[in-house]
Amino acid sequence: MPITCSRCGSAADEMAQPPMPTALGIQIQRSVCPSCWQEWLRTQVMLINEYRLNLVDPEARKALEGQLRAFLNVPADRPE
Ligand SMILES: [Zn+2]
Repeated sequence: MPITCSRCGSAADEMAQPPMPTALGIQIQRSVCPSCWQEWLRTQVMLINEYRLNLVDPEARKALEGQLRAFLNVPADRPE
């Protein structure tokens, strides 16, 4: 399926698989191009190192998800 990337605005084919096995992963698959996702993966490693995030900690995971949404321009889920 062709998508328009929410980060760079390019038309691209969506990723073959959601990059994470979650609702957010599906949202990313439908809105972010593969090269922006790769860019996020590199940025994520830097953030984890810089802030010494422990991803076992739910607060750290939440903080990283906020960074991910801001980086990729993926809005938070609206409350139902
Ligand atoms: Zn993109």
